[in-house]
Amino acid sequence: MSTSEKVSRWWNLVDKWAVQVGVSQSLILAVIQQESGGNPNASRYEPAYEKNYILGNPERLALCKKLGISTHDAAASWGLMQLMFFTAYGYGGKTIKTLLDPDQNIRFGAAHLGALIKTYRSKEAALAAYNGGGKGAADWKAGKGTDATRYAKNVMALYEKYRDAALVKGPSETKDLKPVNPGWNYFKVSEFVCKCGCGTNKVKSGLIDTLNIIRGTVGEAITVTSGTRCPTHNKKAGGVANSNHLSGDAADIQAKGVAPAELRGIIRNLWEQGKLPELAGLGAYKTFTHVDIAPKVKGRLRTWNG
Ligand SMILES: [Zn+2]
Ligand SMILES: [Zn+2]
Repeated sequence: MSTSEKVSRWWNLVDKWAVQVGVSQSLILAVIQQESGGNPNASRYEPAYEKNYILGNPERLALCKKLGISTHDAAASWGLMQLMFFTAYGYGGKTIKTLLDPDQNIRFGAAHLGALIKTYRSKEAALAAYNGGGKGAADWKAGKGTDATRYAKNVMALYEKYRDAALVKGPSETKDLKPVNPGWNYFKVSEFVCKCGCGTNKVKSGLIDTLNIIRGTVGEAITVTSGTRCPTHNKKAGGVANSNHLSGDAADIQAKGVAPAELRGIIRNLWEQGKLPELAGLGAYKTFTHVDIAPKVKGRLRTWNG
């Protein structure tokens, strides 16, 4: 069995809890691969953690005693998502045995991941925090190369792999991989290929995430009229020299029965509600709406009329 097969066999449980907490199944699968390779009995004892955060922490020491958990066990990470006892305890995990139960392990792990994403509003920062706590997230925001930020990068690469497998194959063709959320997965990666026929396709998963959320809200079919562009095609299409279409960060879209300016308004509203964390640029043209995820200033949305 390959590692991704060992991981994907937990699909049903991943799907169940992912839907409950609103986290991408592919992201949970990626964390499972990184943390345990899909082994439900994995455990890793961290002596430094025991010394610094349990033996040196009277409250936790007392809680260990009260719950009948050894400080050694409380200083280890357990199961598929390699949860530590005190993390799982915050989500309702009361014994080490529950952490070795795949269903409960994914339940607490997904809940934790969901909470971190809500806090940091970024998958990468949440992953850095999953690995290295608040300091990990801060390191990621500061662009530092630390264990936590490298961890986030690794897991994001795995996430894109699971996502793309799901997007390319589609739910009907594989048992292991399903859409990211109920009603999601409206787009195939192939829809973003350069329209000139050269085969160039650099579409970023964040752009697909963004369009999926838009599609789910608009409720009408959305056509990608321009996704990735090769430099030659970009020139022909009248794109600027450094167009975000070149890097796979932009798509021009049309929604059935919705005028471009109206579509821009709908998308802007979603952004204002915090539902499109990755959206960075939004332009309404005569026949299409341009959407991109290439921020010039983090957290600011560029809007224009073409
Ligand atoms: Zn091309
Ligand atoms: Zn465009």
